[in-house]
Amino acid sequence: MHHNMTLPGLESFHVTETREENGYYHIYVERPREVLPCPACQTSTQKIHDYRWQKIKHNRVFNRPTMIWYRKRRYQCHDVACRKRFDETNNLVDRYQRQSQEFNQAIGLETIHGKTFKDTAQRFGVSPTTVMRRFDTISESLLKETQHLPSIIAIDDFKGDTDGERFQTIITDPIKREPIDILKDRQKSTVYHYLKDHADTVDIVVMDMSPSYKAAVDQALNQPIIVADRFHFVRYMYWALDRVRRRVQHEFDDYDRKKCKNMRHVFMKRSSTLSAKQDWYLHHYCDKSDVLTSAYLLKEWFCDWFDNAKYLGSDALSTIKTDLYDFYDTVRASAIPEFEKAIGTLQNWQKEIMNSFGYNLHNGYIEGINNQTKVIKRQAFGFRRFDRLRRKVLLHHKYKDIQGQMA
Ligand SMILES: [Zn+2]
Repeated sequence: MHHNMTLPGLESFHVTETREENGYYHIYVERPREVLPCPACQTSTQKIHDYRWQKIKHNRVFNRPTMIWYRKRRYQCHDVACRKRFDETNNLVDRYQRQSQEFNQAIGLETIHGKTFKDTAQRFGVSPTTVMRRFDTISESLLKETQHLPSIIAIDDFKGDTDGERFQTIITDPIKREPIDILKDRQKSTVYHYLKDHADTVDIVVMDMSPSYKAAVDQALNQPIIVADRFHFVRYMYWALDRVRRRVQHEFDDYDRKKCKNMRHVFMKRSSTLSAKQDWYLHHYCDKSDVLTSAYLLKEWFCDWFDNAKYLGSDALSTIKTDLYDFYDTVRASAIPEFEKAIGTLQNWQKEIMNSFGYNLHNGYIEGINNQTKVIKRQAFGFRRFDRLRRKVLLHHKYKDIQGQMA
């Protein structure tokens, strides 16, 4: 190759020699001699003290792993009283590093773009620990701490299992449907302090029906509008039905008890979506128990109310509410304790449940975010540390749309 050719990252260097050996591309470089100010006394100097070879791993050149041999010059100050020795300045490699800045940058970018630490380590021929360190450095610089939250936020928990805490809290933007921040646990005080510091402009919060989140939000913010998440309140009716099924099947003989347990999913489905065989099983077990039949019908009733409420939306809130009161009456008339308990919870959250139709907001998209977090955790060790998982998840979502373009 021509030695006056410039290579990426080596623009300010002279290439003195290139050579291929043992599968590596070796490039020998040095900087032009300069007049430099002494870092101690600012006296200009061009007196060379000596040269040292620094061996540096660099990005692939011509698709070969590449090693740079940098003949690094040391200058000495002209001033007789000073005589300080110092390295010439360069933008290729930091002091005491064995990898070029470009190489480290490339590793860092690859760790952001969904590759595992182990794969990246193999590809670049460095240790996974080095890769992790690169990730820590680059992710900290890319992720500026959230200063102000948008006016609408959602709060949910997920099982992240980091730093000895099973559950973490995720704060998301329900309009953009992307994560904003992740908190180390789901305790009231953690959420309270975070909101106190960041959420002065928040007026609507979407959340599951957790009393500790509600207390944190109520105390940290000035009476925001709270929206109960749909998925979470519908789930109470499914849980109630499941409890009734377990109670009732307990009275069945061995065969039917096991079979009924295996048919759990049939009870959970909407009746309109059952196959002929599933419908047969549903009737078979409901015929054995009036309570089970009533419980199934209550669940179906609630789901019908829910679908209708979503359809009607904010224009028909009074109809939605009247229909919900009818449902409460029917539950009371049925005297099934599991359902009576469930509507007790619904009544405690009545205003927040109605808000979910009034504002048409929900947390449904968070499940998708949490599934991607699970994949990230499965892919690599190193994410047992909370700060690292937090940065990985937030950057994954921030950069996923340009994935591949920067690789
Ligand atoms: Zn000096």
